[in-house]
Amino acid sequence: MRLLVTGGAGFIGSHFVRTLLDGGYEGHEQSRVTVLDKLTYAGNRDNLPASHPRLEFVRGDICDAELLRGLLPGHDAVVHFAAESHVDRSVDSAAEFVATNVGGTQTLLDACLATGVGRIVHVSTDEVYGSIAEGAWTEEWPLLPNSPYAASKAASDLIARAYWRTHGLNVSITRCSNNYGPYQHPEKLIPLFTTNLLEGRTVPLYGDGRNVREWLHVDDHCRAIALVLAGGRPGEIYNIGGGNEQTNRHITERLLELTGADASMVRRVADRKGHDLRYALDETKIREELGYAPRIPFEQGLAGTVAWYRDNPGWWKAVKHGTEESRPQHTEGNAS
Ligand code: NAD
Repeated sequence: MRLLVTGGAGFIGSHFVRTLLDGGYEGHEQSRVTVLDKLTYAGNRDNLPASHPRLEFVRGDICDAELLRGLLPGHDAVVHFAAESHVDRSVDSAAEFVATNVGGTQTLLDACLATGVGRIVHVSTDEVYGSIAEGAWTEEWPLLPNSPYAASKAASDLIARAYWRTHGLNVSITRCSNNYGPYQHPEKLIPLFTTNLLEGRTVPLYGDGRNVREWLHVDDHCRAIALVLAGGRPGEIYNIGGGNEQTNRHITERLLELTGADASMVRRVADRKGHDLRYALDETKIREELGYAPRIPFEQGLAGTVAWYRDNPGWWKAVKHGTEESRPQHTEGNAS
């Protein structure tokens, strides 16, 4: 099989590509991968093998219809990760989010239609559902996104579903909870806090820290995407959860422990505008239909992630200090 992976130089897309090339997904031992990535501030060529016989890297924009129509022929499937992904940045300025997440997805799907790509997985987020005080969202829940990021992802989900319904495009949509793991950009909560603490700097905790997120290791997310790619039904949405519900305060306490720091390193900052209180997914459908179950216990995954950042300062120092000026001041990075 020949796959095109958009956003494959980002956090989650690169994990998917590295795992696939390492033989981690059944049936893909011989698959060839083309990564299409614009290499925005969030994309990093170093997240992928410098050279691999089954990997081709193309720097380009999913909004570029001509590029896509030239590139897609010969590909059997597309896994679509490319997006502007940081909530805080979307609060500062939403234009790029609408252009890439909505316009880029539509351009990509049009190109898939025009070139006859047989299978697409559109990677989305639980943030499209809004905030839930108790219980958990099923895939039928109404979309009530609260941030411009989440709204742009919700719009892209609806475009994807409409292309299935209108044109019969074979696209499935995944909605995952907060991811963590190695190679995540240090603007997001866990790597930001971890790298600040490793550098002896304070960490900015939003509000009272009681916001609840469900945390899933990136490896579990990517395995679920591989299952959806192989067996997901056209036009269907699959929640990917089953991680661990934690308050931001608890995450902060665990990161203090894992880095040997104390509570004096926590700096309370004004809450994010429109900050969702709680996210929780019901992932019964993907469990029952595709046999998905997360494998990495949160405490183990978190310790492994902190160890990875401790062991790879070269990677994050280049990323973090290269983008310091352009990052929002009080960045938390709930999820995406
Ligand atoms: P990321 O920001 O780390 O990576 C995004 C990648 O997309 C980068 O490599 C970037 O260069 C590329 N990109 C951006 N605009 C592009 C464009 N116009 N054309 C081509 N490439 C472009 O994001 P991530 O955390 O890896 O998230 C990947 C996907 O998963 C996103 O669609 C996101 O909404 C979704 N998601 C993320 C999380 C999370 O916790 N991080 C959770 C659920 C869903």
